[in-house]
Amino acid sequence: MAVPKKKTSQSRKGMRRSHHALKAVTSIECSNCGSRKLPHHVCESCGHYKDRQVFSQSQREVVAE
Ligand SMILES: [Zn+2]
Repeated sequence: MAVPKKKTSQSRKGMRRSHHALKAVTSIECSNCGSRKLPHHVCESCGHYKDRQVFSQSQREVVAE
């Protein structure tokens, strides 16, 4: 088994962990209904994407069954 030759210093550890912070989830306002949605995703509440109706609420219930 490979064994590290030197103890990892506090500085090295900090440099490695400098990338570990979590980023806040970005969300944008739906152009149709104004609710928050993920960018490049269909709006969950009204079913619009790029000013186009992709699915309606009644269709969604059929898919869920
Ligand atoms: Zn919407």
